[in-house]
Amino acid sequence: MNRRTFLKAGGAATALAAGGGWPLANAAAGEVATARASAKPRNIIFLVSDGMSSGTLSIADQYLRWRDGRPSHWIRLYEEGKVSRGLMDTASRNNIVTDSAAASSAWGCGRRVNNDTVNMGPNGEAYEPILVTAKQHGKATGLVTTATVTHATPAGFAANIRNRWQEDDIAVQYIEREVDVLLGGGQNHFKATRRDDERDLIDECREAGYTLAMDAAELAAAIDKDTDKLLGLFADSLLPYELDRINNDDLAKHVPSLADMTRSALQVLNRNPNGFIVQIEGARVDHAAHNNDIGGLVFDQLAFDDAIGAAVEFAEADGDTLVIVTTDHGNANPGLNSGWQGGRYRFETLSKFRGTHEAIFNRINAESSLGAIWEAIGDVTKVGVSRNRVKLLLSALRGEYEAPYYRSSNANALLGQIIANETDVGWAGGRHTSDHAELAAFGPGSEGIRAFMKNTDLHQLMVNTWA
Ligand SMILES: [Zn+2]
Repeated sequence: MNRRTFLKAGGAATALAAGGGWPLANAAAGEVATARASAKPRNIIFLVSDGMSSGTLSIADQYLRWRDGRPSHWIRLYEEGKVSRGLMDTASRNNIVTDSAAASSAWGCGRRVNNDTVNMGPNGEAYEPILVTAKQHGKATGLVTTATVTHATPAGFAANIRNRWQEDDIAVQYIEREVDVLLGGGQNHFKATRRDDERDLIDECREAGYTLAMDAAELAAAIDKDTDKLLGLFADSLLPYELDRINNDDLAKHVPSLADMTRSALQVLNRNPNGFIVQIEGARVDHAAHNNDIGGLVFDQLAFDDAIGAAVEFAEADGDTLVIVTTDHGNANPGLNSGWQGGRYRFETLSKFRGTHEAIFNRINAESSLGAIWEAIGDVTKVGVSRNRVKLLLSALRGEYEAPYYRSSNANALLGQIIANETDVGWAGGRHTSDHAELAAFGPGSEGIRAFMKNTDLHQLMVNTWA
């Protein structure tokens, strides 16, 4: 799409309107970011583990060393000295604690916007998202996620929306802006039967030349075709948590892993002679953190790490690709507290988990018997919970439990505390945090990473590789 269509689609006043800023972060309007890329990579792969606290990165790496005798791909990049590394200030325009929409917008348009908005200023100004800019430089563009493809983090690279939950509208913008590869969940926002306006976007994509894939087998078949436009939607809404996916034969067969989606996206995008930019998101790390769900958290972080492995493998072979690996904000700050037997026994407990909190709560509710609750927890986690703790959980399911810290009063948080007796992973809360975030980059252009950067600086770093 050209600039004129972008402005029309976004209802933009001007991309240069004042943006404001969080005072502590000194994100003043119009401030020119100082990040400079000294090289011009052909491709950019931007990987986001959504809502990844530092403890999440550590625990997943340590678990992998215990289980498979190898480090995570992310930490291996550090061990081998292959990356530039820094901490990122993640604040949004109106909050020191960002949400995913504002966080991804900071990368997407180089501006801090208010929480819940996507690439739009407080007075409705639309700021050009990076995938629109990329098109003007002849780049192919892609979004890959384990959430809906229209979720806040992917949207931050391609959409302009006042409220992140207008996902039907985000889907339309993706098509108007010709995002070449879309892989994730969210059929609901493309199907005529599920959209408010009854538009059949799946059909519209087919007519616009997209190859369609609605399960893992179709994705594999689509790659074999010579397609350069790909729409893969593998669930009505979010894709399943990795721990639930790998423990359910049907899901494991039909829903591709994030690493599989990553390889597919890279293969298709790489057909463009001018290169590409793609955002790849491990979305459900954030959801597991909100739920204080250690099984959901670790296995989704490991699935994300496999996607890093796929990206680095591509980039090392290609030699002309900038890989950025980061998170948009911390969440719930899990930490392994002095584990018994050096933590190893705790990892053994974790290795026996066969599902997430969601798998447990799908089986029980406020009407359940104590025995049914005990059995559901035991079936999924192999943990035997005491009668008193089961009683507490039932009171939380009934909305009658009040934790000393009010945010921990819900059933998910309480289950997280109960399970923590077996894993020693404690939680600081259940919301996003203000922590500075881990940031690493590999390949040409990564020289622009500094020890401490603002989220908005990354936008400038990427755009400068095309200047
Ligand atoms: Zn997020």
